[in-house]
Amino acid sequence: MAWFEIRIRPFSFLYRTKIDHVVTFGYLCLLFNLMTFKDLGLIDPILKALADKGYTHPTPIQEQAIPILLKNKDLLGSAQTGTGKTAAFTIPILQQIYNAVGSGKGGRKIKTLIITPTRELAIQIDDNIKEYAKYTGIKNTVIFGGVKQGSQVKALRSGVDILTATPGRLLDLINQKHINITNIDFFVLDEADQMLDMGFIHDIKKIIKIIPKDRQSLFFSATMPRAIIDLSKQILGDFERVSIEPKQATAERVDQAVYFVSKKSKSKLLKHLITTENPDSTLVFSRTKHGANKIVKILDKAGINSAAIHGNKSQTARQKALSAFKDGGTKVLVATDIAARGIDVSQLSLVVQYDLPNVPETYVHRIGRTGRAKASGTALAFCDNDERPYLKDIEKLIKQKIDVVTEHPYLVDGPDDDEPQQAKSRPQRSRNNGGSSARKTAGNPNKRFNSKRQSRNNNTNRNR
Ligand code: AMP
Repeated sequence: MAWFEIRIRPFSFLYRTKIDHVVTFGYLCLLFNLMTFKDLGLIDPILKALADKGYTHPTPIQEQAIPILLKNKDLLGSAQTGTGKTAAFTIPILQQIYNAVGSGKGGRKIKTLIITPTRELAIQIDDNIKEYAKYTGIKNTVIFGGVKQGSQVKALRSGVDILTATPGRLLDLINQKHINITNIDFFVLDEADQMLDMGFIHDIKKIIKIIPKDRQSLFFSATMPRAIIDLSKQILGDFERVSIEPKQATAERVDQAVYFVSKKSKSKLLKHLITTENPDSTLVFSRTKHGANKIVKILDKAGINSAAIHGNKSQTARQKALSAFKDGGTKVLVATDIAARGIDVSQLSLVVQYDLPNVPETYVHRIGRTGRAKASGTALAFCDNDERPYLKDIEKLIKQKIDVVTEHPYLVDGPDDDEPQQAKSRPQRSRNNGGSSARKTAGNPNKRFNSKRQSRNNNTNRNR
């Protein structure tokens, strides 16, 4: 897409497809003679599956992790979803299983166990494995709680090589003797920090006691606090470390802006954005389950088709809502953080943070739902008066001032400003201490977002 098209087509980023990103990435790789999957020594059945997916070149985590894992070493990975992490750990496992047992004939035992905190992520990983393994004859399945166990048990009985599971259902089915994990060669613990946050630590410790000591272990976490490092020591043997800095990478890749708006006007601003800009797909983050339901009700009244996913919804309802969103049937998905963790929606146009999180890392996880792998994306945040300290913390973490949208009908003037104002431009007070004054960036061809805004970066302005 030429730069002038970006200028004259409002919200032009919304029309772009993931294919564009992959093709552009592919051309850039060719141009700079970057590494290919073949260079990593992958076998033909996997190369063929990757070609079918349209992957031309490995992402940085794949480039670093695949050679280590093919040498059968343990791995500690600091990386979050969106970096190509799933392929980084599943591809070498598939290759090793394939090389050891061919196309998987004969009695199957579970050789790989992947533990992940949420059902959505488990399903997503299992879907990816299915695609990468399609020419290998290797079989995989997924189990998670919140649904009846019958079909999961049936799939297990027919024999699988790779099992992806959430911890609770796994232990449940082990206790019922439907699962035997005493023969596994590969153990993956994914999103370890989230596991801890969700209180799965005891389940994980129980699982580690059952699996054989002689195994290859992979441990992934987006953040590495003390407790996570301690847990990794209990799981990993002689390991190598791969670190992809998602915070900075995501924050730099995603086009971000913040709206100062009162709490009361947030729903009006959301409706306004969706109706005027008409994004193909919008993921809205709400702090609470109740808040998510409320947003859906408001959008519904305005004739905007939306759905909510959160912990109080049944697994079937969550899967149904997610599928409709992925298929494009539902344009707006409203989610709480836990439910949305790791959700991979290709071509996700827009992320809206309806409430700013008080944990700054959560902001980065949320914006990472767009701009996945090499794609770029747009993330907008609504900030009311009470949330301004959170914004400060976020900017400190990402080492970047987020542009402020200076023209919108619900610019905060006071706590109760609920009537739309004439779109107006007004200078935001720059918070750059002693730095050059804020500069207008609207009209910058790099911006895929058509609102007037002010950049407040004086150190790392990526739009220069
Ligand atoms: P993940 O971090 O595993 O959730 O992956 C994020 C997204 O990147 C998913 O949609 C993958 O299908 C995609 N992806 C993974 N590896 C590549 C690659 N080498 N080239 C292009 N897209 C990729």
